[in-house]
Amino acid sequence: MADLAAKLKTVHQKIKTAALAAGCNPLAIKLVAVSKKKTESDVRAALATGQKIFGENRVQEAKIKFTTLRGEFPDLELHLIGPLQTNKAEEAVQLFDVIETLDRPQLATALAKAIKKAGRAPKLYIEVNSGNEPQKAGIAPRELESFLHFCREDCGLNIEGLMCIPPHKDDPKPHFMRLRELAARFSLPMLSMGMSADFEIAIACGSTEVRVGTAIFGERS
Ligand SMILES: *Cc1c(COP(=O)(O)O)cnc(C)c1O
Repeated sequence: MADLAAKLKTVHQKIKTAALAAGCNPLAIKLVAVSKKKTESDVRAALATGQKIFGENRVQEAKIKFTTLRGEFPDLELHLIGPLQTNKAEEAVQLFDVIETLDRPQLATALAKAIKKAGRAPKLYIEVNSGNEPQKAGIAPRELESFLHFCREDCGLNIEGLMCIPPHKDDPKPHFMRLRELAARFSLPMLSMGMSADFEIAIACGSTEVRVGTAIFGERS
């Protein structure tokens, strides 16, 4: 797995360069290694290089891959970056440290209930549909204020950040800038934006957390 170590190192170097160019501390930018569709041994190889933060997009897959690893690596941090069904809210609350895809009122209600029951509260980010794409999950930018109010006041949830996945064909920059503006307006410290193809642009736009899969683990089948 020398290949994986080299790829991770390259990603770290690019993060550092982009952060310094943007005038921010490279150590303040979190690298979430997206291990969806990759194996437990791929994750172990990344752990061996010191990588501690991983992202998965499905509850079931994450549970199978990470239950043992979690016991072995107590400081491992697991992020959910894919859509969450309300009937999986309890499992997600038990398994993940950060849920980045809070995208609708029913899910906020389900998470609030699950958090109370589990006595454990993952950090929560709201997914914003920055391009207002009809088929895409996420809260429309113009509805963010009222959704935040609902999460905080009606559900008692603590919201820590925003996440977005810009439309495939668009220049991602305006989307990243818009997300940063929204996070600033509502005093949300965490900004999850940037993937393999655009994480340096995202960092230039103020990202605090990049989600990188392919550039670390190679293509997914
Ligand atoms: C798969 C995925 C990523 C990682 O994508 P790469 O292009 O492989 O870096 C990041 N964020 C989300 C939400 C994803 O589903």
